[in-house]
Amino acid sequence: MSFSIELSGRPISPQRIFCIGKNYPAHVREMADPPPGEPVVFMKPPTSLVRDGETLSRPEHGHVLHHEVEVVVLIGQSGKNIPEKEAPGWIAGLALGLDLTLRDVQSIMKKKGLPWEMAKSFDQSAPVGSFIPFTNSIVLSDISFQCSVEGQRRQQGKTSDMLYSIPYLIHFLSGIWALQPGDLIFTGTPSGVGPLEAGNRVRLESDILPGCEWVVA
Ligand code: ZN
Repeated sequence: MSFSIELSGRPISPQRIFCIGKNYPAHVREMADPPPGEPVVFMKPPTSLVRDGETLSRPEHGHVLHHEVEVVVLIGQSGKNIPEKEAPGWIAGLALGLDLTLRDVQSIMKKKGLPWEMAKSFDQSAPVGSFIPFTNSIVLSDISFQCSVEGQRRQQGKTSDMLYSIPYLIHFLSGIWALQPGDLIFTGTPSGVGPLEAGNRVRLESDILPGCEWVVA
């Protein structure tokens, strides 16, 4: 069954998942990466998406499966070269999600200067919770969120710490790709990333976004 989201009363299946790397300074430091000069962008295919509550199967081509909790933006309408100031008008919804990463595979890719898809874009690499509709009462730069594993808090983030804000990311991405309704943007992870073992329950929570959880098979 394909993943679908309700958009303006109709189900829509996202075709593209944009992901932003290195968007929180403390996470850039924990990865011992140099600060990026502009947003780091990679993509996941629609087959990465997993609904709240489904079981996550571990990929077999790596060993160290890391959780990265992120705020996920749902784009509601088409747009190219969207001005940063107007960008909130393109947001249809917000959710929490996990950018699951095979860290051992990614380290090898980084060392060799190769693309990250094998480390980040495998089947079920993008669990996403329920979306809430975006309204003007939501302050995009003031969303708190966290990730816990087996009841222990591992990551805590605030969108105010982002290097590149959500409106800027929409502006930046729309300068390269014409955005389409149903596009998703994973906006980067705060520090505290760590491993998920078989049987672990991972839970995401926020002050305003719906909580969600998954169990790793
Ligand atoms: Zn990430």
